Formats: sequence, C-alpha cells, structure tokens
Amino acid sequence: SYRKGGYHAVRIGDPFSGGRYIAQRKLGWGQFSTVWLAYDTLSSSYVALKIQKSAQQFAQAALHEIEFLSAAADGDLQNTKCVVRLIDHFKHAGPNGQHLCMVLEFLGDSLLRLIRYNRYKGLKMDKVREICRCVLTGLDYLHRELGMIHSDLKPENILLCSTIDPAKDPVRSGLTPLLEKPEGNANGGGGSSTMNLIEKKLKRRAKRAVAKISERRVSMVGGEASSNTERSLDGIDMRCKVVDFGNACWADKQFAEEIQTRQYRAPEVILKSRYSFSVDMWSFGCTAFELVTGDMLFAPKEGNGYGEDEDHLALMMELLGKMPRKIAIGGAKSKDYFDRHGDLKRIRRLKYWPLDRLLVDKYKLPEAEAKEFAEFLSPILEFAPEKRPTAQQCLEHPWMNVVSTQNNADNVESQMRNLHIKG
Ligand code: ATP
Ligand code: MG
Ligand code: MG
Repeated sequence: SYRKGGYHAVRIGDPFSGGRYIAQRKLGWGQFSTVWLAYDTLSSSYVALKIQKSAQQFAQAALHEIEFLSAAADGDLQNTKCVVRLIDHFKHAGPNGQHLCMVLEFLGDSLLRLIRYNRYKGLKMDKVREICRCVLTGLDYLHRELGMIHSDLKPENILLCSTIDPAKDPVRSGLTPLLEKPEGNANGGGGSSTMNLIEKKLKRRAKRAVAKISERRVSMVGGEASSNTERSLDGIDMRCKVVDFGNACWADKQFAEEIQTRQYRAPEVILKSRYSFSVDMWSFGCTAFELVTGDMLFAPKEGNGYGEDEDHLALMMELLGKMPRKIAIGGAKSKDYFDRHGDLKRIRRLKYWPLDRLLVDKYKLPEAEAKEFAEFLSPILEFAPEKRPTAQQCLEHPWMNVVSTQNNADNVESQMRNLHIKG
C-alpha cells in the first residue's frame, strides 16, 4: 500500500505542515490512513496525526471526515462532549502523491484493546457504566445537537482518554519536548541547511524519546495479555471518546445504504428499511454487552444454505424474541430472508436464550446485576427503531445512576464515622 495513491511513508522526526508537527511514532492504521504520534511545536503538546492515502477517493473520504469532525469541534468549544477533537488539517506532498492530514487530540488505547487486555472476560460493571456514560454523552451530542449519525460505533472506534500528558509532565513521562521552534520563519519549508541540521538533531532525539513513550503508553492499560494472572483495572480512569468519523452522515442527507460494521449493524440496515439515529443506539447496545461479557453480542456466520444476513437475523431473534411481522416484512430486502408470515425462510428452528438468562447462565453474572443490566439493555435492542430510547433517555436510566456497591459501603462507613463524631 506504500505506492502511488497509497499510504505516505513516515520516518521518525519527519516534519509536517512547514515544521509545525514532528512525527514521533506510529499509533495505528486503518484502511484509509496511518496515524502517528506527533509533537506540535506551536502548542508544545502531543497530537495524533492521521495521514490519509493519497488517491482521489481517499482524499474525498478525508474531506468528508473533516467536515464532520469540524462540525463536532465547532459545537463543543469546551471539549467536554466525548468526541475526538480535530485540531488542524492540511495537505502534505510526498512521493506517493498529495495526502490530506488530520491533526487530532492524542488519545489512548481503544476499547477493543481494553477488552483484549482483560482477556475477553469482561469489565466490572462500574467500569462499564463509566464508559457508557462517555459514549452516551458523545452520542447525545452528535444526535440531538448536531443531527449527525456516526454509523460505525464499535469498541475499536472508542478510545480511552490518554492519561499521559508528556508535554505538561515531561519528567514523569520520561519525555522532553523534541523540538525547539525552527529558527526564523516558523512556516518556512525545509531545504535550508539550518533546517537540515535541526532535522538531523531532531531525529536522533526523537528516536531516544520514542522508546520511552512506548513504554508509558503500554502502561496505560498494561499491554497485551500474556500470562494468566488477574488483571486489575482499579484506579484506571475510564473516560473515553468517540473517534473515526469516516462514515458519519447527516440524518437528513443520507447517502449510503449499507452502513455499520457487520456485528454492530442494526436490523433495519440489514433489511434496508428507513434508518436514523437509533442505528447508533443499536451499536451502542452491542458494545455495552461486549464490555460486560468480553464476547461480541452477535457474531453471524454464513452456513449451509443460508447467508450471513439471515444468520444475523436468526441470532437476534434467538436473543430478543421473534421480530414483529410488520418490521420483518417491511424492508426492501425482507423478501430475501422472510416469508409472508414473518418467519425466516432458511433457518426454521430457533433456540431462544433471553438476555437476562444468558448473562446469568453463560456469563455468571449475579442475578440482581444481570437483571438490572438487562433492563437497561433490552429497550436499546428493540427491533422497532422508534421504540429504542435516545442517548439522552439512556443517560437518565436508573442503571446509569446506580451507586456502586463499593461506594455504597464507603458511604455507609463514612456516615457511621460522622455519627460517631457527632455522638
Ligand atoms: P478505518 O479503516 O477504521 O476507517 P481509518 O484509516 O479511518 O481506519 P482510524 O480508525 O481513524 O483510521 O484510526 C486508525 C487507528 O489509529 C485507530 O484504530 C487508533 O489505534 C489510532 N488512532 C486514531 N485516532 C487516534 C487518536 N486521536 N489518538 C490516538 N490514536 C489514534
Ligand atoms: Mg477505525
Ligand atoms: Mg475511518
């Protein structure tokens, strides 16, 4: 993919945008881009630099993403609404073409990595609640204030807020800022001999610093699981933000029929019925389940005589009960999967296993905890899109506002202490 129209090859210490940003190390990549940790010499802080592939369709996609990220940033001046912040964007010319680059606030590991780190055993309920509060805050903002549908919500696209602030705390993080401002005109391009000297110096220093930030980053959640000892997430702050707006759309200007990643796809999208904000709520429900159990809620596979879509619909009904006939037969693709009674054409025998039982029998949740969580989740997984609660309604749900048992115990104890003091 590192050829004409593809990724831009980056070396540590490479300058971007006239020397404002200096590449530090690769953070990740996707189908469209590579993402680098970079040092922003203007604000003396670390940022994530997303460098898009250069071909026309990727540039188009980047412009689309920039439109949505800009709208999200413009409506959230305080940067409190749990959506990744776009700081800047520019074009970068390289041997493979012109690359659109997005400068984003530097975030930490994805929830997918968090789930892996926890060995697919699921997180404690209080941690899940903290994460859900952030994601719902983000969705409520996108939906209600901006009229935007994210269309690709999933653990991979939710990133923990980095606890590292290398710029503010260089001693603790073992990092020193990697760059003094280029001499003379801050926007002056490369080429001069001073610039070359600075660059060489930078690259050496960057290489040394990179090893250190790698260590710190891993310590954020502790790296990949390797042994069998219990992992503790105690004390790790579970704030997070929604990222990856490459598939976002305005609710009143939809263009794509097939949206969302397979496992997080809502039934109305599979059936090609009308869809709206509530598709994000469905994906949110799937994500919340995965955080609690460590397993994907629906992992459809094609089988003997039926396709992935039909298996997906069958899995949904096994968990949630039979789909109301009106919904089952109401989509442009309904006839491919359902007969006129609203029964699946090729998968005739369903094994029902309702959510609250599944949580207890398979995932060994305590009865009360399973019941509370199922009461929160079930309405979000309604087949009828208009019956699903909004993000705002979810935030007000009793489950979101449960005080943890540990906190309860602490509260009782401190109340007792107060009584003693008073007495
Ligand atoms: P996709 O194929 O998923 O659409 P993409 O090319 O649009 O990929 P992103 O999903 O935006 O790219 O980012 C790719 C990866 O880079 C992420 O999974 C994450 O690991 C990392 N990343 C993205 N944004 C940030 C950020 N703001 N801070 C830290 N890491 C990030
Ligand atoms: Mg992504
Ligand atoms: Mg993307």
